[in-house]
Amino acid sequence: MNNDFSLEGKVAVVTGSSTGLGQGMAIGLAEAGADIIGIASRSNQDDTKKEVEKTGRKFYQIQADLSQQDQIVSLVEESISKTGRVDILVNNAGIIRRNQAENFTDEDWDAVIDVNLNAVFRLTREFGNHMIEHGTGKIINIASMLSFQGGLKVPAYAATKHAVAGLTKSFANEWASKGVNVNAIAPPGYMITNNTAAIREDETRYQYITSRIPQGEWGNPPEDLKGPVIFLASSASRYVNGHILCVDGGWMGS
Ligand code: NAD
Repeated sequence: MNNDFSLEGKVAVVTGSSTGLGQGMAIGLAEAGADIIGIASRSNQDDTKKEVEKTGRKFYQIQADLSQQDQIVSLVEESISKTGRVDILVNNAGIIRRNQAENFTDEDWDAVIDVNLNAVFRLTREFGNHMIEHGTGKIINIASMLSFQGGLKVPAYAATKHAVAGLTKSFANEWASKGVNVNAIAPPGYMITNNTAAIREDETRYQYITSRIPQGEWGNPPEDLKGPVIFLASSASRYVNGHILCVDGGWMGS
């Protein structure tokens, strides 16, 4: 492998690493050489741990509820204390609540805003400060096609993902000169994970969406996200800041 893509000696924090895209990206980063600190609400991250350890890298597991905003500062301190240093942060954990806009409840709104936006802001600020102290770091936010589009029955989710794109650019503007690259990956709504199970069960919608993806297939984590996340976590992306990288089978261009 070209050395520019090596993560040898680096430590990456991945939120939502127990399953889905987060698990896939944690394994991908480990394959490129990084030790992983996995943060997830589920206590059992055994599968992720096993796969990361197969690559010869270390896996540190932290169970935390990212909806609890008052615990984020101590969570960041706990993470850094595991390894002494964090070089890469992947803000992946996210939730989705579906309901027609006119019936969307305050409770669902607040729950989505807390995990998808408030936690991302606070984790970025706290880990970012640590990275600025070292003069180097990589932050990768997981955005969505709904950072650009409104979607259906997901007003809170779309609002948070638009905001994640804005946060990415805003932090990138301030931190590019401090050695910290802040970028985002925007997977389509169309990756095969728990998050999209409800859409895939609706056969008509599933077929319609598939027919609109230029590549003609849904994204398959982890394979389709490993390359993009390694690129943004490595020195290969040294001069890339505030970019939202669409990994979408061509959806946004169609
Ligand atoms: P998933 O539901 O499979 O996994 C979500 C992960 O987040 C889990 O590890 C879970 O433990 C963690 N998590 C959720 N709430 C948490 C909380 N309160 N505290 C701590 N951890 C919590 O989801 P996924 O499909 O893998 O999605 C991951 C990210 O990718 C999300 O930000 C999602 O919005 C985004 N995304 C997914 C798709 C897709 O097609 N699956 C498309 C666009 C964007």
